[in-house]
Amino acid sequence: MKKTKILLIYTGGTIGMMKDYKSGALKAFNFAKLLKNIPELNQLDCEIQSHSFETPIDSSNINTEHWVAIATTIEETYHEYDGFVVLHGSDTMSYSASALSYMLENLSKPVIFTGSQLPIGDLRTDAKENLITSIQIAALREKDKAVIQEVGLYFEYKLYRGNRTTKINAEHFEAFASLNYPALAESGVHLKVHYEYLLKPNKLKKLVVHKNLDTNVAILKLFPGFNENLLKSVLSTPNLKALIIETYGAGNAPTDQWLIDHLKNAKKNGVQVINVTQCSGGSVIMGQYETSEHLQQMQVINGKDITTEAAITKLMYLLGMDVSPKLFKTIFETPLRGEMI
Ligand code: ASP
Repeated sequence: MKKTKILLIYTGGTIGMMKDYKSGALKAFNFAKLLKNIPELNQLDCEIQSHSFETPIDSSNINTEHWVAIATTIEETYHEYDGFVVLHGSDTMSYSASALSYMLENLSKPVIFTGSQLPIGDLRTDAKENLITSIQIAALREKDKAVIQEVGLYFEYKLYRGNRTTKINAEHFEAFASLNYPALAESGVHLKVHYEYLLKPNKLKKLVVHKNLDTNVAILKLFPGFNENLLKSVLSTPNLKALIIETYGAGNAPTDQWLIDHLKNAKKNGVQVINVTQCSGGSVIMGQYETSEHLQQMQVINGKDITTEAAITKLMYLLGMDVSPKLFKTIFETPLRGEMI
């Protein structure tokens, strides 16, 4: 029997960091050296190979070029491996997992993002469990097919759909939540897969990798006191093509005339405006309150229950695909990779 082959893609993050003795700060480190310190990996019933970013990074430095690098590595080795585990800093992991979910269309193999809150060399590290279980999840097969056929994020005993996650804690081992979609799998004494929640891609379709991402996008979070100058300044950003408004509750916003006028004008100038709630759970329901009726009337795009991370990366992806402005609203409001209802 052929052994399942897994590729570990190391991009950086705390998992592989070491303390700089002079400053005491954590810095990215050569992962190949660290891998040698995890003898447990030899006990796994799969063949593991690794590929590291030339310069591992703290994930706060991630940008679309890194996403293209991850996607290209997967594209180039797609037929060689049965699954992929991406080691990544937790700070922006939800953005990267969301971006990759769009970039890898018709994915039929697991791509599991993981990382840790403490470096792998730390006595109390969470890195070993996260890494080992992620590899086991990526290696799960039934009837000669991968069980997980989507981009997931594994952290602290739970596998989530990557584009449904948000980093909710900078300190707890349970750093991520997926409030609008249940866990895909849970790890306890047994690894329990919730088959009913998995994406089931069309197996006849081939992997298509999209590498064009347009970053002419912005996010504007509402707060009481939010004023006209701020809105004007964001909307006058050169080349701005889409703006996410992080609204209150179920998609509500102030009803001031200046806000309506500026948004209407932006839309007239071709800027896509999207309503995404700043709550971590729940959905935008435009029209439920009077304070969202004005947004509905001006045909603002409904972000429904999408996370901000999945929304901003969906915008980069759709704008990069040159989706026609007429179809943009309909396509954005359609779930492409299970990122929204
Ligand atoms: N700052 C780190 C990073 O995101 C934190 C982590 O790895 O969890 O790269």
